[in-house]
Amino acid sequence: MKMQPVLKRYSLDFKDRTPAADRRRRMVWSQRSRHIVQLAFALFIIGGSVAHYMAAEDGSTASIDALCPFGGIETLWTFLSSQGATIPKTHLSNIILLIGLVAGTLIAGGAFCGWVCPFGAVQDLLNGIRRRLHIKPVELPTRLDAILRYGRFITLAVILYQTISSVKLLFAEVDPYRTLFGLGWLFEFNPATSWRAYLVAVSVLVASFFVERAWCRYLCPLGGIISVLSNFSLLRIRREESSCKSCAICTRPCPVKLNVHDAKIVSSNCIGCLQCVDSCPRHGALEVKLAPAWLPIKSHASEN
Ligand code: SF4
Ligand code: SF4
Repeated sequence: MKMQPVLKRYSLDFKDRTPAADRRRRMVWSQRSRHIVQLAFALFIIGGSVAHYMAAEDGSTASIDALCPFGGIETLWTFLSSQGATIPKTHLSNIILLIGLVAGTLIAGGAFCGWVCPFGAVQDLLNGIRRRLHIKPVELPTRLDAILRYGRFITLAVILYQTISSVKLLFAEVDPYRTLFGLGWLFEFNPATSWRAYLVAVSVLVASFFVERAWCRYLCPLGGIISVLSNFSLLRIRREESSCKSCAICTRPCPVKLNVHDAKIVSSNCIGCLQCVDSCPRHGALEVKLAPAWLPIKSHASEN
């Protein structure tokens, strides 16, 4: 194998010091780091699910339900209103993870979605496969996209209403993240009882293959909460108008379709993947900065 193409492919050709090569290196390495972190969290959750199925006694290892911060939101009302009791299948661990998620979001915005969430990682993987197959993504009209984003809050409201009124994790039965990473489809495949879960999971995965991060953008209840909290995060991506030449190169790679090039601070729907920052050709035009909500910066990126 020839050395030069390999070096170029992995952006290890450090002799090439042109700004374009520097930018390519930055992009490759920051995205590679992100994918490694995503993979590590996904393997952690998969390992937990395998251990749970292999355990000799039920309850001796944590199930996937105990490892989800959204379980903390579902059980919070019961926890607060009944002196520490939790909804069946949730635990104190869910509340602790929720506290960690809130703290992390107040510091780094939606980075949980871009770097940690295994279901986000699966959607990135599907997007990568689609690109390799040279299949064009489906781009929804701007107005429809903006309306569909409210779907996350509708899902959230329905889940909270159902969970609080029934004191059961009803959403867990069709949650695509739980269906996929809980590994029930592998260890106890049962279409007769779980067909709804399989149908929802397959539909979401197919939609996310054609529409980048479809679940995150339109349906994920946790993503909805994170986007609200991100309005108060300390770190935000800011665009310096004096350095920016409005080329819109930064907007192209955005997986959640935000208009980065006409914002002063990117939208709170940002998942912190940093692809816009890495792709920007102008030094200092787009940077992650300390930009909490109380700083006097008014304009935010429009959606889509
Ligand atoms: S929006 Fe939901 S599914 Fe998507 S990355 Fe965030 S938490 Fe995960
Ligand atoms: S605005 Fe930038 S960091 Fe945020 S999701 Fe889009 S590309 Fe990623």
